[in-house]
Amino acid sequence: MSLHGSDRRDELPSGTAGGNGAAANMRLRLNPDKEHKPEGYEDMELDFSPNIFTSLERYLPPSMLAVPRVDKAKFMRDILLKYLPLGERNRAQKHKEYRQKIIANYQPRHRELYSMNPATFFVPTFLKAINDNTEKSFRSIISEPAPGIFVFDIFKPDFCGLLLSEIENFEKWVTETKFRIMRPNTMNKYGAVLDDFGLETMLDKLMEGFIRPLSKVFFTEVGGSTLDSHHGFVVEYGKDRDVDLGFHVDDSEVTLNACLGKQFSGGELFFRGIRCEKHVNTGSHSEEIFDYCHVPGRAVLHRGRHRHGARATTSGHRVNLLLWCRSSVFRELKRYQKDFSSWCGECNRAKKERQNSTIAATRLVSLYVMQMFHARVLSVMYKHVLIHLLPTFVISLDWLLANCSQPSTKGTILLNYFKYRGTVSIFS
Ligand SMILES: [Zn+2]
Repeated sequence: MSLHGSDRRDELPSGTAGGNGAAANMRLRLNPDKEHKPEGYEDMELDFSPNIFTSLERYLPPSMLAVPRVDKAKFMRDILLKYLPLGERNRAQKHKEYRQKIIANYQPRHRELYSMNPATFFVPTFLKAINDNTEKSFRSIISEPAPGIFVFDIFKPDFCGLLLSEIENFEKWVTETKFRIMRPNTMNKYGAVLDDFGLETMLDKLMEGFIRPLSKVFFTEVGGSTLDSHHGFVVEYGKDRDVDLGFHVDDSEVTLNACLGKQFSGGELFFRGIRCEKHVNTGSHSEEIFDYCHVPGRAVLHRGRHRHGARATTSGHRVNLLLWCRSSVFRELKRYQKDFSSWCGECNRAKKERQNSTIAATRLVSLYVMQMFHARVLSVMYKHVLIHLLPTFVISLDWLLANCSQPSTKGTILLNYFKYRGTVSIFS
């Protein structure tokens, strides 16, 4: 959604479809009221994420800021609906109904998983680093075995166990009720979308409070500091599950991939360099090749555009939690930056080549200047040769030409020869 209209007015037309009379002709401000403290919308039944309403509230016209929260929500909802294409709106509505159907019928086994509880979810080292919130504290618990791939311990074994048990319970319910669930993506036949059965709020908090601070430091050029939505799911590999996963990029700016267990062998992740849309199918270079072995409780954090795949899980059963984190701001900006992506390995390579040829050209020019200078020195020497050693002049010229390796310098000497020959003839 873009809040910037094509015209240059200070205010933008609001959505009036279904809007109430009072709001019908009102407009959003172009510049937010930074002094205004927005309300929370978490407890309301809304078509969009409560965070969107909280962010948008500062853009309301001044007269709307003091109206009851429910009216503000309705006003903003109408605007959002107007900016959302019809197809997208229908799809969102259908998905909402699908989720409501699951949540109304599915009985969670471990309710404690459905709200964020850092002390019971995360290992103390991770929690401390996040609380300290400095690059130094992050680096103290995170390793970067290959550029752009960050590895760290995140979840306690108890949390992994509870989540595995909850997923098992959900799968059991799906089988028993023959509920047709949507799989996490086009590539996995197994696995489940955690957001669809009630874990959306908890995962939102995971992204906002724990992944965004890291991404702000490590992935700032791909919108790491403005991550504002997510797709959270689990993938399952092994016997009677998916075997491996082909080479691909994620539909995310930043991906958290955490192993929950259980016992398994194989299933390594292979990484092959970061690429933009234009370069996604180009070859990889030796320094971009990196393989990673999963360890339960441990996570890998990488850019969504970091090409990767999963090798076959050869025995046992492996379950991983995936959190695809997205930034709407970055996606909007990316539309206007088609020529060069600083984060793409191939774009960078092309840029370096361009820079190298510029440097080479600069070197050539400097070399030429140096030669000219050199030639000038030689020509002064030559003048002395002409004046003081006139009888041996021809020999001296031969000697100078023979001892000068640069053709252009030879040219300069010859030019000076004719110049000074003239001078000499005047002298003589
Ligand atoms: Zn590129």
